[in-house]
Amino acid sequence: MSDNNEIRKQQTVLTDYFANMIDQGHLAHAYLLTGPKGIGKRALALWITQGIFCKNKIAGNPCLDCEECRRIESGNHPDVVHVVPDGLSIKVDQIRFLKSEFSKSGVEGNRKAFIIEDADKMTISAANSLLKFLEEPSGDVVAFLLTETVNRILPTIVSRCQLFELAKPSSAQLIAMLKKKGITTDKAVILGNLTDSLAESEKIAANENFDKLVRNICVWYLHILQEDARCFVEVQMSLLPLINNKDDEVILLNLIILLVKNSISVYYGKKDNIFVKFQAEFTGLIERLTADKITQAVELVLETRKKLAVNVSFQNVIEALTIDLSQCYHV
Ligand SMILES: [Zn+2]
Repeated sequence: MSDNNEIRKQQTVLTDYFANMIDQGHLAHAYLLTGPKGIGKRALALWITQGIFCKNKIAGNPCLDCEECRRIESGNHPDVVHVVPDGLSIKVDQIRFLKSEFSKSGVEGNRKAFIIEDADKMTISAANSLLKFLEEPSGDVVAFLLTETVNRILPTIVSRCQLFELAKPSSAQLIAMLKKKGITTDKAVILGNLTDSLAESEKIAANENFDKLVRNICVWYLHILQEDARCFVEVQMSLLPLINNKDDEVILLNLIILLVKNSISVYYGKKDNIFVKFQAEFTGLIERLTADKITQAVELVLETRKKLAVNVSFQNVIEALTIDLSQCYHV
C-alpha cells in the first residue's frame, strides 16, 4: 500500500487528472505511461486501476484499503492482468493469453484492466497481436502500457493510446522519498541533488564506497580551497582507490560538479547546505573568492566531463582538474 500512497504525492497532476476521469466515467481504453525507470509508472497504473475497482472511492480516488484495492496492489485481482517480459521479450503467446482472459466476461463485474510492463519489449508479432486487440476492444477494458522508451513502440500502437509522461521528482521530493527508505538526511540531501531519479539514487546509495567517496572528495575540495598541496596527492591516494568502473567515475565527477555549483550558492548567500559536515568550512573559504572565479570553476569541471567522454585516462583528467581548479581559485 505504501507505494501507492506515495504516487499520489509524487505525481499529483496525473493522479488528480485520472481521479477526475474516473469520477466522470471518461477513462479512455488505452494509456501509454512513459518515463525513466523508478519514476512510478507501475504504481500509477495500479493506482488508477484501484480507482476503477475501489468500492469506497472518493471523487475517483481509491481508498487503498478495501478488498479490491488490496487485491490489485498484491497482484491477485481476477480482473486485472499483468504482463511482464518473459526473459528478454514479451512474446506473442503472452498477448494471446491476455486476449483469451479478456474474451471471458469479467469474473466479478464487467470491468477489466491490464498492465503491460516494458511494453517496448513486445516482439513484432506480440505487438501486432495487441494492436488488433486495441483496435477492437471487447467490453469495458482499460489498458496500461508502460515504457521507458516510447520511440521503441510501434507507432500504430502509440496512436491507439493516450500518452502520458510522468514528471521527474524535484530534489525536495526525491530527498523525502530517500529518507522514507531509511537513508540518513545528510546522504539523502547529497543524493537528491546528484540525480533526478529515485532508482538511480538508490543504486548510488547502495555503492559501498559512496560515503567514503563523499568524505574524501570534500576533504580534497577543502584542500583546494585552502591552497593545501595535499589535494594533489589525494587524487591517487584517496579518490582513485574508490573508483572501480565507469559508473564510479561518473559519480565522482558529478560530486565535483555539485561541489563547485554549491559554491556558487554559498557565495551568493543561499543556504542549501548540501555537504552538511563541511559547509561551515567551505563557506568561510568561498566567501573570500570572487564571483568570476567560482563561475570559471564550474566551466572547468564541465569541460572535464567532455574530456572524459573521449576516453582520456581518468587519473590524468582528475589530476589536471585539481591543478586547474587550484589555479582558478588562487592565481
Ligand atoms: Zn478501495
